[in-house]
Amino acid sequence: MIEKLSTARLQWQESIPESEQFGDIYFNREGGVAETEHVFLNANHLEERFAAHHHGSFVIAETGFGTGLNFLCARALWLKKAPREGQLHFISCEKYPLTREDLARALSAFPQFAEGAAQLIESYPEPVPGFFTLRLDQGRVLLTLLLGDALETLPQLDARVDAWFLDGFAPAKNPELWNDQLFMQIARLSRPGTTCATFTAAGIVRRGLQAVGFEIRKVPGFGRKREMISGTFMADPLPGSPDSQPIWFQRPVPDTRKQPVVVIGAGLAGASTARALADLGYRVHVLERQPEPALEGSGNPQGALYAKLPAKPTAHSRFHLAGLSYTAGLIRQLHHLQADIGQLCGVLQLATSDKEYRRQQQLVDTGAYPHSLVHMTSEAEASALTGQDCPYPGLFFPDAGWVSPPTFCRHLLDHPLIECHYNTQVQALQLADNGWLLDGTSFSASHVVVCCANEALRFEQLVHLPLKPIRGQTSQADQPDDARPLKTVVCGEGYISPPLNGRYCFGASFKLRDTDLEVREEEHRHNLDILCRALPRLGSQLTAQPLQGRVALRCSSADYLPLVGPVPDLPAFIDTYAKLRDDARWPFDTPPPLLPGLFVNTGHGSKGLISCPISAQLVAALISGAPLPLEAELANILNPARFTIKNLIRQTL
Ligand code: SAM
Repeated sequence: MIEKLSTARLQWQESIPESEQFGDIYFNREGGVAETEHVFLNANHLEERFAAHHHGSFVIAETGFGTGLNFLCARALWLKKAPREGQLHFISCEKYPLTREDLARALSAFPQFAEGAAQLIESYPEPVPGFFTLRLDQGRVLLTLLLGDALETLPQLDARVDAWFLDGFAPAKNPELWNDQLFMQIARLSRPGTTCATFTAAGIVRRGLQAVGFEIRKVPGFGRKREMISGTFMADPLPGSPDSQPIWFQRPVPDTRKQPVVVIGAGLAGASTARALADLGYRVHVLERQPEPALEGSGNPQGALYAKLPAKPTAHSRFHLAGLSYTAGLIRQLHHLQADIGQLCGVLQLATSDKEYRRQQQLVDTGAYPHSLVHMTSEAEASALTGQDCPYPGLFFPDAGWVSPPTFCRHLLDHPLIECHYNTQVQALQLADNGWLLDGTSFSASHVVVCCANEALRFEQLVHLPLKPIRGQTSQADQPDDARPLKTVVCGEGYISPPLNGRYCFGASFKLRDTDLEVREEEHRHNLDILCRALPRLGSQLTAQPLQGRVALRCSSADYLPLVGPVPDLPAFIDTYAKLRDDARWPFDTPPPLLPGLFVNTGHGSKGLISCPISAQLVAALISGAPLPLEAELANILNPARFTIKNLIRQTL
């Protein structure tokens, strides 16, 4: 994956944008909407297909997102015609994304789509390479933007597409895109019956699509264009796995029966998993040992929503950015309903040492992250942003902020298809003929998602997972009457958010493998010390206040990434891939032995706000067969079997 993206350079001809990079217009002068309806919606027969769709996701993939006009047209038709319990998953590639300002300007020409455009603009990602998923219309629509060259991003896509919108500018203007590599990817991602449509009738496109298995028709084009083409995939499906996907990470066979799912745990991981499944039409039972949601690791009144970025992007940081973008989009939308769910007031990451300052400067100098995502601020700017006397410069993330995890969890769980059962502790999992029996409760289910942090180790099927508890204590204090309120989140060695309902929450201590839950004076002192170093005045004001404390156990994994996905049937899995001990390149052809219907979403450490919601989308996609919301490479680094594979290769298993 490339490290940097350029945004689209536009010339405006009144309301019509023209690309300087390609010398072509984004939509037709004679009516952009009418053209989209003719070329993409009608030629793919979407009105009838949407009306007949009964469950799960309907998948459209597009080459060239541009202004999002095609997307908004398809979304409007979906909301009008499709049954409520289905989900439209629209996937679109874009090499030169429009800036948010240009997107808003282009879409202002279509007042009929104002509501959809507002949601899109609000959740629109920063121009950074990778997959970014946006949830719109209370989950009836998902949009996954593949930012980067389609020829690089499509090979990372794990999806089966129902209809293609081939719209990447005319082949004469963009010959690099329309080549055999693209047609091969289109075929890999199609199944018998998948349709495609494009405005062009160019021979290279027609022949390319025919060569990979589409039956092609020439039909009248829009406006002055005489012809266009549409087609249906008629060949045998190709193995759908993304290119160079190791077989041990192949996704499980999806559930087509749509039976109710049990989710264990009602913290951030469980609540977001339940919601992602409910959005797809699944009935979900959430089993929680506590009397309310979010009373354990997700129970702090506030948490910082931001990603600590490395100077040079890595797979970890790409996952964190995809998660940050996804959660921030959710919070921006929910904020309209409930202001105290969180606030995207900006996060300032202070450089409290020379070493950290040099690291931050290097991060900005690489140019890998756009200014709108993160930039350096001086002490004076930091002081103005925070409303405090800030003794350090630092990195500022304008679109990050804080979230109240318990309020967020309650919102996620508030759905007619989700039933929460509190004071319900699952003692063990037992595989029976028709699914899982949840010992200690009266529940059974074909699909179970374990989202209960370190408690996952209580189940014998999961004891091999390398999870470890890390004690963290936060401190809370009333805002002193004479103190200027903090205006942004401030992170350094610790973190503090602006006051919520007149109280500050700051912290936190970090005690590996310490599972004691008592509040400790010395950890309050630690929290105050790091606060005093970052914001001396506010620190000393809060030192004079009575403090309350809250202790929770984070759940971290051996590589500090969460564990998200199917659970291997360990003895059979080791047996199947035992040859890895001798030869890491052995050409296996056996798919991974998995425990049927058992999934985990755990190990989020202190990053649950950015990693739980996107991981929940990943689990829901794996269960239902929907497109993965992340690059295959990122789904792989979250796969719970990764440790077993590594240990086999290193001969430590
Ligand atoms: N569907 C768009 C809409 O609704 O506004 C219009 C798409 S515009 C005609 C073509 C788009 O394809 C441009 O945004 C362009 O940047 C994008 N594009 C061109 N080559 C690409 C490539 N190799 N990979 C990804 N996107 C590409």
